[in-house]
Amino acid sequence: MNINTENIEKNRMTFWEKIYLPEIARGLGLTLKRMFRQKMTRQYPEERWEPLGSYRGRPVLVEEGGKERCVACGLCSRVCPALAIEVQAAETPDDKERFPAKFEINMLRCIYCGFCEEVCPEEAIVMSKDYELVFASQESAIMNKEQLLVPIAQLQDRLEFLRRYK
Ligand code: SF4
Ligand code: SF4
Repeated sequence: MNINTENIEKNRMTFWEKIYLPEIARGLGLTLKRMFRQKMTRQYPEERWEPLGSYRGRPVLVEEGGKERCVACGLCSRVCPALAIEVQAAETPDDKERFPAKFEINMLRCIYCGFCEEVCPEEAIVMSKDYELVFASQESAIMNKEQLLVPIAQLQDRLEFLRRYK
């Protein structure tokens, strides 16, 4: 008997394998057993996931006292490897002297690297917990300053994480 004939003999199905019934019963038994175990899946979006402070979701601008913290230094824009950030500075009578008259992030370009957050001297841009990003067009993926501003109270987990580990 040569090797090919041996393989054919080995792979030949038995009578019980040919009628499938034992395998179907085995499959149903397995399903029944799993039905009473703890569920490993999440019923999203009804059951939402709350990320930890270490999570890097979409970058946002920190809003403090009704204004952005950003001083429009442009460092985040320079460091961004995806060229996703555009900042235009203007003067302000406030103590910080400069503010971003225009601040945009193209979310289709962003790769969530967190470099912008790392380089910012003012803790003015941070990675949020927001992971639900859906855009109907390329234009709507370019987020302006108003869309990027998030009150500081909602970013405490991330700011705490940065103070500990940055
Ligand atoms: S997270 Fe990275 S890619 Fe996204 S805006 Fe910041 S620096 Fe650019
Ligand atoms: S977010 Fe930070 S790094 Fe970017 S322009 Fe404003 S102050 Fe500078």
